[in-house]
Amino acid sequence: RLTLAIESSCDETAVAIIDVDGKLLANQVSTQIDFHARFGGVVPEIASRKHVEVMVGVVDAALEEATAALGLDGGVLEPSELAAVSVTQGPGLVGALVVGVAFAKGLSLAAKIPLIVVNHLEGHLFANLLTEPDLKPPFIFTLVSGGHTMLVHVRAWGDYEVLGETLDDAVGETFDKVAKALGLGYPGGPIISRLAETGNPRAIDFPRAMMHSHDFRFSLSGLKTAVVTYIEQEVAAGRTLNLHDLAASFEAAVFDVQFKKAWEAIKLTGVQDYCLGGGVAANPHLRQMLTEKLGRRGIRVILPPQGACTDNAAMIAEVARRKLERGEFASLDVDADPNMTL
Ligand code: ATP
Ligand code: MG
Ligand code: FE
Repeated sequence: RLTLAIESSCDETAVAIIDVDGKLLANQVSTQIDFHARFGGVVPEIASRKHVEVMVGVVDAALEEATAALGLDGGVLEPSELAAVSVTQGPGLVGALVVGVAFAKGLSLAAKIPLIVVNHLEGHLFANLLTEPDLKPPFIFTLVSGGHTMLVHVRAWGDYEVLGETLDDAVGETFDKVAKALGLGYPGGPIISRLAETGNPRAIDFPRAMMHSHDFRFSLSGLKTAVVTYIEQEVAAGRTLNLHDLAASFEAAVFDVQFKKAWEAIKLTGVQDYCLGGGVAANPHLRQMLTEKLGRRGIRVILPPQGACTDNAAMIAEVARRKLERGEFASLDVDADPNMTL
């Protein structure tokens, strides 16, 4: 009972294969970062074209990886031996999503296996199940990705109460914009987090927007402006920037607000467990800080494996295998939906 999962919502072409018990048999990610980096961000037309170019190869590589993992002899696993094919339906770039959805429909038809569609954001949440398969609601979940910043009360699987979102930029987007302003490259998250390792988080007092707003909404565009203004002032004054201190202080401003609101949401709902997801969840300082601070308050903190925070198909497969168990299939006239939410 194997499920193949395809993820193509942004600039990663990813394919995973999982068995019905949650054993991951293949996990392939082909990233397009090098093709987008010179433009300082993801170029949608390039993303779609690259997905088309590599999709078949990534699917084949996943089938080969699963064949080896199962120790099968007598040839590579065939799509018709799969129990289902699943794919990210949205949210994401429409042209990128369409490539995955069309491919999955074709595979479903040709191999005569059912089609399952998955919400990418639910995928980021389910990445936590790769770490803790027994995780059970209710709990609080923070999604911090390239396109989303959301605090969610997961009351039951599929029952998501969004407590608050960003009013402007997402956390990952802010990392990317700050790195771009500094001319450091794309994506900004990993670059800034490496610089921050040896920086002083108290060196520069950047604003903690909405910290005391007594709600669960976030605002990040002001922080981005504050960082850019700080850089301009330092340059105008002829001082050399300490990029390490800048990166560490920027991270501290973002993460202080994340902790405060997560803790308030936990107190409000009375839950015992807390989860994180999305590309920014790969940040070691955020992981360590939340584990320590919430742990000290008696909360169990679950984090996705570091490599399953940015886009991947293993997290899509985790959602899909449960839909397979429930028989929750999609019809072949289903379309990509770039505006899905939780
Ligand atoms: P969404 O999931 O909202 O549709 P996305 O799929 O484009 O958006 P993800 O792949 O989940 O976003 O995350 C990518 C983001 O994660 C980028 O903005 C990137 O800078 C950020 N990121 C990756 N690693 C780190 C890190 N170590 N620290 C901070 N941010 C990081
Ligand atoms: Mg990406
Ligand atoms: Fe994502």
